Amino acid sequence: MKNIIFLAPPAAGKGTLSEMLQEKYGYGHISTGDLLREEVKKGSLLGKEAESLMKAGKFVPDELILKLIKNRIVKPDCNNGYILDGFPRTIVQAEKYDELLKELNKDLGVVIYIEIDKEMAMRRACSRITCPKCGRIYNKYSNEMKPKKEGICDDCGEKLIQRADDSEETFNKRFDEYIEKTMPLYDYYKKKGVLKTIKAYESKYDTFDEAIKVIEE
Ligand code: ADP
Repeated sequence: MKNIIFLAPPAAGKGTLSEMLQEKYGYGHISTGDLLREEVKKGSLLGKEAESLMKAGKFVPDELILKLIKNRIVKPDCNNGYILDGFPRTIVQAEKYDELLKELNKDLGVVIYIEIDKEMAMRRACSRITCPKCGRIYNKYSNEMKPKKEGICDDCGEKLIQRADDSEETFNKRFDEYIEKTMPLYDYYKKKGVLKTIKAYESKYDTFDEAIKVIEE
């Protein structure tokens, strides 16, 4: 299976699509945001360093992220393909990742760019709720993404929370950070000939169908 990198602004639907693709194809799912939130919850040194940056909508330093990725992609669930959801987010991360792939003799795979306008992404971020235990993503105002029981995770019964960085103010900062530091990756991967573009639709199933097409091409 081709490895997948999602390239998209915050709240474009990377996490939701990753969950759906993981279920369909058995991909390993690597979300750097989830990995960081776990570290914050554990109160580790890395978590302490990341917490204030994440709350401010800033990126966590490249070296810390690369450490997380190095440990994660060698886990057995990644042997038959994995999805990178939230990494690389800077040119330095992309270059270091290329070196790591060479070292491990692994393929880059396909980079899927999700096109979404800022208003739609902002709306999604502000109505997103997540399970702090399993990471599953819900949306308060979407019929297809609402939990069965209000405020409770369908899978583990945990109380759902709004992420600290899903406020309007932090979203704006995260979006600016994305435009400045992540958007250059579009050209970086386009030049390599591995970039595919899909659209974020109102329904996650329509977006999923487009993703399947580019993966199976
Ligand atoms: P979203 O799903 O809204 O795109 P994520 O959960 O992927 O957000 O990321 C949340 C936050 O974690 C980011 O705003 C950033 O502070 C930090 N983060 C996640 N991945 C990276 C990365 N690759 N490089 C730097 N910071 C990161």
